[in-house]
Amino acid sequence: MRIAVFPGSFDPITIGHVDLVKRALPLFDKIIVAVGINSSKKYLFTLEQRMQWLHDVFDQFPSVEVDQFENLTAHYCKRIGARYLLRGLRNASDFDYEKTISQLNHIVGDGIETVFLIAQPEYTHISSTIVREIIVGGADATPFIPKEVKVPEIVKRPA
Ligand code: ADP
Repeated sequence: MRIAVFPGSFDPITIGHVDLVKRALPLFDKIIVAVGINSSKKYLFTLEQRMQWLHDVFDQFPSVEVDQFENLTAHYCKRIGARYLLRGLRNASDFDYEKTISQLNHIVGDGIETVFLIAQPEYTHISSTIVREIIVGGADATPFIPKEVKVPEIVKRPA
């Protein structure tokens, strides 16, 4: 069984993330979209909110599961029996960062392979960071997020 973990903060999930998972469906028997919890990181949305959106978005995909984990991604993969990580590459800085992480995970995770998909041109400019700035700045983020993601008014700054 080919199980891949797609780890991330998903703060919030974007249409770029969804596209990546859809394109990876034929490659794996199961894809686990997993929120990595990093206690030193500041998030805009709560873990519960981010998890709820992931459930809503991937509800109709039978081979996609949603989960959360603490500590090392490689240890989480070992624990659940996943031999693959899924990551997206948008640009050269993604590549530089991901290269190191993937080499580390290969060692720490006893041979875990990271499978990279190059972002499609129409999604290359989309990141959760930009989406958060748009939301906090009071602009409309709907072009960048799945329809299931309903942003609460409370986080928006008046225009
Ligand atoms: P992290 O906090 O680990 O950076 P993110 O939630 O920002 O997690 O991203 C998770 C993964 O999704 C990363 O591999 C990232 O490269 C990929 N990704 C993010 N945005 C896009 C996009 N627009 N197109 C393709 N892949 C993307």
